[in-house]
Amino acid sequence: MKIFCIGRNYVDHVKELSNNIPDAPVIFMKPDTALLKEGEPFYHPSFSTDIHHEIELVIRINRVGKKIQQEFAYKYYNEIGLGIDFTARDIQTIQKQKGLPWEIAKGFDGSAPIGKFLTLENIKEVKNINFSLQKNSEIVQQGHSNLMIYSFDYIIHYLSQYFTLRVGDLIYTGTPAGVSKVSIGDVLEGFIEGEKMLHCEVK
Ligand code: MG
Repeated sequence: MKIFCIGRNYVDHVKELSNNIPDAPVIFMKPDTALLKEGEPFYHPSFSTDIHHEIELVIRINRVGKKIQQEFAYKYYNEIGLGIDFTARDIQTIQKQKGLPWEIAKGFDGSAPIGKFLTLENIKEVKNINFSLQKNSEIVQQGHSNLMIYSFDYIIHYLSQYFTLRVGDLIYTGTPAGVSKVSIGDVLEGFIEGEKMLHCEVK
């Protein structure tokens, strides 16, 4: 099982980190040891003092495929949920300055909490999904799927040119603006259209 993540997929988030709008999807991966199942706590690692939350729509692949045409990409996923792409921003900033890979800032243990999924029958339109993250009951991030620079279908098409997609692979599709530091004791809750989909406490 693979965990793909898309970086810089919402204009407002690209700007808040002073990055450039990409001319192709920015891809990175997390190992399966990054995954935290629904409700499991996140243990704040000691190697960072600036772990950020990034709430993201996550799609789950349900069919094996490679070199998938964009027009058929919708056939390769049937569930959408929420996940958090925890990022050690202090380490990532150093890696970016040095031109080095981001894995230690992005793929560490517990860096990928995942919540419940909705099947596509329960979602009216994949281009019209509102989602949000609350930290300690205050809304800190709000996103909408039509604000993604690269759509679910394009991401599947693009990834599958390089990687064979398998059943169960997850794709974190990027975060909107509002990322911020988490502290021990914080409670993070993700919502799709007002329905709670994800719960994660920082310990
Ligand atoms: Mg992210």
